[in-house]
Amino acid sequence: MKVKFVNWGLQYSKLKSRIDKAVLGCFERGDFIMRSEVEKFEKNLAEFLGVKYAIGLNSGTDALYLSLWTAGIKPGDEVITVSHTFVATFAVIKQLGAIPVLIDVKAENYLMDIDKIEEAITEKTKAIIPVHLNGRMCDMEKIMEIANRRNLIVIEDACQAFSIKQNEKMAGSFGLTGCFSFYPSKLIGACGDAGAVATNSDEIAEKIRMLRDHGRKTKTETICFGVNSRLDNIQAAVINVKMKYYLKKAVARRMKVNALYNEGLKNIVGLKLVGDDYCENYVIRAERRDELSAYLTKNKIETQIHEPMPYHLALANQLDRVFTLPITEQLSREIITLPLNPEITNEQVQYIIRKIKKFYKIKKG
Ligand SMILES: *Cc1c(COP(=O)(O)O)cnc(C)c1O
Repeated sequence: MKVKFVNWGLQYSKLKSRIDKAVLGCFERGDFIMRSEVEKFEKNLAEFLGVKYAIGLNSGTDALYLSLWTAGIKPGDEVITVSHTFVATFAVIKQLGAIPVLIDVKAENYLMDIDKIEEAITEKTKAIIPVHLNGRMCDMEKIMEIANRRNLIVIEDACQAFSIKQNEKMAGSFGLTGCFSFYPSKLIGACGDAGAVATNSDEIAEKIRMLRDHGRKTKTETICFGVNSRLDNIQAAVINVKMKYYLKKAVARRMKVNALYNEGLKNIVGLKLVGDDYCENYVIRAERRDELSAYLTKNKIETQIHEPMPYHLALANQLDRVFTLPITEQLSREIITLPLNPEITNEQVQYIIRKIKKFYKIKKG
């Protein structure tokens, strides 16, 4: 048996007629930039997230970048976030000349350790970027309470938490903005790069709309220097199809696969599971992780190891400060991501579980 990390071909084949029709429609009409599919996407997304505005952008990275920019983050400002994320979360802080202040995560769920926020705040701190990693949300009530009390902006990195809720409220709808990625391997992926920002602020929405399109307010009215970060109409068409015909089924199937893993891998000495109901990426902590990874590869099971060298160490010479983050560093040695996607079969999941048990020399049962 062979298990792919993501099975693109199979995913496409399930939606082929709808995606083909939507994409070819764009070709036939010549609808490429800022056209009807983008408008439809923005309207649907805002409604889905329960926010006033959603703005299509070319990536999740730009969603973060334009959020910080429009929130007024300036050179020398400090922004608190985590090192245990995808590097884009704090690369954008550097791009604005601001200072990333990286704090540690919790070993149980790999999320920002909220108890470490206040001690990281100085008079230069302007914002917090909580990262909802692997489809798990940071405690937004607590973070918003700290931010409101200390007068800080919150920009949510919800790139790995599309459609996830906390107390009936969607990830990305708590902060000043919420940032989303539709990179192919995310829960809903385009056929290339795509992203979006969500906000309830009229002012932020208006500014981001202009900045993503060269600072243009209308086609003939340029009022500031911006960038080109428009979402392609064709990518929006693909996302629109997937949101309508794939999202619900995909989440249900992912929950099922997550439950199969939780059941099959519990009680294995050598593994530590987060073990909750649903996650977007099935990440576990494993003893002899590198050996396990090689063993699974040998058995034709694709897995991923996220940054064996944590970013705050790998990029230490380009950061403004030295950070010691024991849990982040420990996780970088221990975590491995198993295939979790809607296309994987129960048999494949059981095969993976069997191989992992075999690796840790667990007898049948
Ligand atoms: C994917 C991702 C990003 C960046 O999104 P892109 O669309 O690839 O630019 C940022 N933060 C996190 C946590 C991500 O997973």
